[in-house]
Amino acid sequence: MADLNVLVEGYGRFEQAVRQVTEKWCRPFCSHCRRICCRVDFCEETRQSPFLSRVAALFSPAATFDPVQGWLSASGCQLLAGRPPVCYEFLCRDISTAVAMDADRLHALMTLSMLLTHVGRRAVGGRHLVAVMRAADLARIQPERFMARLGEAQTAFQAPWQFWTVNPPAAFVRCCRSSFPPLVTIKEMDEMKVIKKILVTVVIAAILVAAGMFGYMKFNRWHQDQMALGQQKAEAECLEVVHQLESELAQLRAQIEAERQTARPGDENLPAVFGTATPGLANVGQPVDCASIDGQVKAFFTYLDSRPYLASHNLDGGSAGFFHTCVSLLMADPPVNVGEMTEMFRLVKNVTHFYRVLGKERLLLAKDVLVSERRVIEAALSVFYAHGVECGKPLPGDAAPLSIERLYDYAGYFLNTLGGRSYLLRRESKTRMLINYYAILIVDRANDEKFNPYGIDLRPYIDYLFYDIANQKDLAYRERYLTRLKTLKDKYM
Ligand code: SF4
Ligand code: SF4
Repeated sequence: MADLNVLVEGYGRFEQAVRQVTEKWCRPFCSHCRRICCRVDFCEETRQSPFLSRVAALFSPAATFDPVQGWLSASGCQLLAGRPPVCYEFLCRDISTAVAMDADRLHALMTLSMLLTHVGRRAVGGRHLVAVMRAADLARIQPERFMARLGEAQTAFQAPWQFWTVNPPAAFVRCCRSSFPPLVTIKEMDEMKVIKKILVTVVIAAILVAAGMFGYMKFNRWHQDQMALGQQKAEAECLEVVHQLESELAQLRAQIEAERQTARPGDENLPAVFGTATPGLANVGQPVDCASIDGQVKAFFTYLDSRPYLASHNLDGGSAGFFHTCVSLLMADPPVNVGEMTEMFRLVKNVTHFYRVLGKERLLLAKDVLVSERRVIEAALSVFYAHGVECGKPLPGDAAPLSIERLYDYAGYFLNTLGGRSYLLRRESKTRMLINYYAILIVDRANDEKFNPYGIDLRPYIDYLFYDIANQKDLAYRERYLTRLKTLKDKYM
């Protein structure tokens, strides 16, 4: 207890000295101030702190505490010592602004404001002297440590004290600054900590943003490089495919040209059969010479009449009469195009259509003609299509041209019915392709004339036939067929 009394007395004496200088310094401001900053809850700290209570009782025994005014009286604070350290720490804006331009004066004043706070630091464990609330804990105060802090504060007090009494030498002030760190108020220190935290946060955020931007730019550049590489690769692949296609096309053209230059078997017979070396349809896009076609039809029948295998049949009206009879019978009894599969009778009727309509004898003779004239049958079909459809001329012995409706029936029969297709499957591939080709042309012509009652869609047939003909070498007019089919593909695309 004796030690405690020494500590209380030492603290109180030092506080008195600090208070006197502080009051002298602040009096010009506080004496005119209408905003008295004393607060009862500050005053309460003296009563709550056993140590400060002892200091106040020793140095200000006459002071009385008022529940409303605290220790404040009409003449100011009644406590000569024992005031809470915050009463010295607080420097209002008026006072700090007044000395702000004088660095030495500001330093001295701020040092003065922190002296008592420094003395009480870590008085009991980590607690400040003011925070020790139980009287029993005062026994735990380390006197040596307390007196050491008191000595530090008294040393630091020399600066503001001498500044006030005499102008201090500059060296002394600098020494004081470096030897006694707490030069700012607790509030300012807290503010500095907050500012420091904010600055650290801002710097970290800036670093993160910069790192993010850098990463994004790197990724973006990598992504663009990859896109460019992918695009170059795709372009290279496309160019390779194009070059390959161009190469194949060039080969195909060369092959077609070579085939065109090469005389096919039967070509030497064309002038004798049709009266011209280039019978039938002109090239695609060129007008048909119908007068020439008419002559080719007549020449063909003359040629047939000279053939030994027909001469033995003693045909009435010759080959032209036979042809006229067959066509008349077929036109008079067209095949079934609708509901073929609904009745077995219709299906059988379609499958046996030519046998049933022409009869066995005529059918066998027609077959003989097809087999015997296979070398010129392609040209013959071209001639008869041009004659009957393109030129719209009647066959020899007929008054009227062939009906497009009947021709459409047979085109649909070959393209779109089981009976017609089964008939074509029994023929060789060249004949099958030629019949399909002219069936497509007839349906196309019917479309042009707004006549397609069975709604035949030509697109799949064009595709299949284009593929078949492209792979068939034994056709005299293959290039012409492919060109025409390509035109139709574009038309119905
Ligand atoms: S410290 Fe400032 S606010 Fe408080 S009484 Fe003095 S002049 Fe007024
Ligand atoms: S200076 Fe005195 S009256 Fe003012 S708050 Fe401090 S203890 Fe209370």
